[in-house]
Amino acid sequence: MIKYNLKCKNKHEFESWFSDSKEFEKLKSKNMIECIFCKTKSVKKSIMSPKIVSKKQREKENISLQEIKKIKKNLLKMRKFVEKNFEYVGDNFPYEVRSIYYDKRKNKNIYGNITEEETKELSEEGIELTTIPWINNKDN
Ligand SMILES: [Zn+2]
Repeated sequence: MIKYNLKCKNKHEFESWFSDSKEFEKLKSKNMIECIFCKTKSVKKSIMSPKIVSKKQREKENISLQEIKKIKKNLLKMRKFVEKNFEYVGDNFPYEVRSIYYDKRKNKNIYGNITEEETKELSEEGIELTTIPWINNKDN
């Protein structure tokens, strides 16, 4: 993409994006570029240098997008593992955690919902929890 500063014969200045410099010439030759203010077709590129989004910069953005996708995929994998191997106890989570912690005969893997405050309380009792970001497949 390339951004041009354009100027019409009535000295209106405005910006416009084109896929490349050839597109500008093409539209210009077909009289398809007009001033956004006075609609005249007498429009010129103004002397300001065009801003070009470099290929390198685009590649950099692509990489970070891929990274994010990779992280999401891993989180999703973790979520599936938990759902398969752990028992869901919902909002009873803090209660269930305590009952497992204090009753040593019980031994099961559970997961559920917990507030930040409850996490802190459990931590003060010596119960450390692992929290993972719970992401949806749909977010992709
Ligand atoms: Zn104009």
